[in-house]
Amino acid sequence: MKTILFNLNDKELEQFITDLGQPRFRAKQIREWLNRGAPDFGVMKNIPEDLRNKLSEIAETLPVKIVKKLESSDNQTTKFLLELTDGEQIECVLMRTTYGNSVCVSSQAGCAMGCKFCASTLLGLKRNLTVNEMYAQVLTAQWELRGDRLRDIRPNGDANNGDVSHIVVMGTGEPLQNTENVIGFLERANGELNISWRRITVSTCGIVPGINELNKWGRPINLAISLHAPTDELRGQIMPINNRYKLNEVLDAAFAFSDTHNRQLMIEYILLGKYDKNGSVVIYNASAEHAEKLSNLLHNHNVMVNLIPWNCVDERDFASISGNAVHRFQDILIKNGIHTRIRRERGADIGSACGQLRLKNAKGNR
Ligand code: SF4
Repeated sequence: MKTILFNLNDKELEQFITDLGQPRFRAKQIREWLNRGAPDFGVMKNIPEDLRNKLSEIAETLPVKIVKKLESSDNQTTKFLLELTDGEQIECVLMRTTYGNSVCVSSQAGCAMGCKFCASTLLGLKRNLTVNEMYAQVLTAQWELRGDRLRDIRPNGDANNGDVSHIVVMGTGEPLQNTENVIGFLERANGELNISWRRITVSTCGIVPGINELNKWGRPINLAISLHAPTDELRGQIMPINNRYKLNEVLDAAFAFSDTHNRQLMIEYILLGKYDKNGSVVIYNASAEHAEKLSNLLHNHNVMVNLIPWNCVDERDFASISGNAVHRFQDILIKNGIHTRIRRERGADIGSACGQLRLKNAKGNR
């Protein structure tokens, strides 16, 4: 198996390079390339060609390798299918926005949570990702933005100079089932890439002990809760985790987090329809009554509701609801004083829902 140079510490990297009969300073040069996210040795222009060739035979740069890269038609979104060293695959998405460059990071290969609307869970949980595997996703996006130009670290990142400025841990997996590594990754992203805590978001389906752990950790990041239903009964039907942690418990822990850190709590809400027996679409979780119930849950709290119109996943039997129904739902929340926005679909033309790219590849549908 090839050695992953990014996984070696400075001393180990130096040993590796000097064992090849090379001077020590080469290790430092290679480390600089690794820290920029160099995807292979071929790009390392200041390394002699014979050493680059040798390294390509016996080593890899990062613990993630790009298997497939898709660009949206507006060039604002790049979706990566990445392979880990044991052959597992994950996804990572780079979004270029007016407020900066945001990377959506996966925290697990697969997911055990079983949400009924999600493609990422269809193949089950494979394993947790390491700190390096999460960090390398950000470096992959960074390389995409900057290539071999040196990263210019400025206070709190700089939205306009082509650096990654925001991280959302919202890709495949449940981050709070891998809390220790997620915290290690975010500490490193904040310390080494200078991404401010306020530009980092962790999204959970509602693992209460994990939310409490984040609270204890004490960093003022943003917390997002995947709520998707306003009653335990309905939520339990589409999110098995609700049978373990009820809505009120989840929201109490989340409100405590946002109060402690003085941060607005993000509520994610996918708007779902279902097909009736005649094949017509009926509202599933997005009626006026659902909107009123959701308002009651969130009333008097500092929240932002992100409404997410359903993204078709072939393997799941939900349906999209009309634009009018989406707006009606939003209007009720707004009338009740709840900050609400409809999430703009990013890169819809390059792979729709989270987890689909990996799923398609796993079926050999390249
Ligand atoms: S929505 Fe998130 S927590 Fe639920 S199955 Fe998908 S990846 Fe897992």
